[in-house]
Amino acid sequence: MVGDGWFALIHQLSRDIVSICQSENLNIPQAGEIKQKYGGLRFSVYCGNSEMDRIVTAAENGSEFICETCGAPGQLRNEHKASAPMYTVCDLHNPPPLSLHEDELAVIITKQIEAIGTRRGCNEVT
Ligand SMILES: [Zn+2]
Repeated sequence: MVGDGWFALIHQLSRDIVSICQSENLNIPQAGEIKQKYGGLRFSVYCGNSEMDRIVTAAENGSEFICETCGAPGQLRNEHKASAPMYTVCDLHNPPPLSLHEDELAVIITKQIEAIGTRRGCNEVT
């Protein structure tokens, strides 16, 4: 699951991926699993290229400084039990509330990518 606070980050990442596709004349890749793991964003793209991998990694790293709940500057925390999950949140949202299930967000993001660019199949390697 990921929270609304990362929406702008994910939206920008989606736009950047579409821009790369347009400038390099590639098909729009399919967004895969989008989730929070160890307090940070995890975003998988099927059939992406190395440039897409680079910006995805940058967004994932950036998520560790953005409150997952509200989007304000945050920090990676694990102030609870050792077994408790980690979160990136601001002071106001520590501890964070439960948020969207990852499947719901994946649907939202997929629709967003479709809205930005026409989604086709994976790029075929020739
Ligand atoms: Zn917050």
